[in-house]
Amino acid sequence: MVGVVTAAVPAARPRKRPDPKCPLRPGEPCTLCQASVTGPQDCGLVYLIMDDPESRDELAAWKRR
Ligand code: SF4
Repeated sequence: MVGVVTAAVPAARPRKRPDPKCPLRPGEPCTLCQASVTGPQDCGLVYLIMDDPESRDELAAWKRR
């Protein structure tokens, strides 16, 4: 084919999936420490803490320290 101009495309950098963070351990990634979980989204411990207003408030207060 004549007249086709191709631009130099920089090589794509490999994409890294973001590490899900543990909501109960600020700044730390989820280490799948609970049985049969795939991340914070189905972690029973996170569910229990976040579902209980008193525990959720305590966690928030602890994070502010
Ligand atoms: S499994 Fe749950 S408690 Fe364990 S690190 Fe992941 S989110 Fe946190």
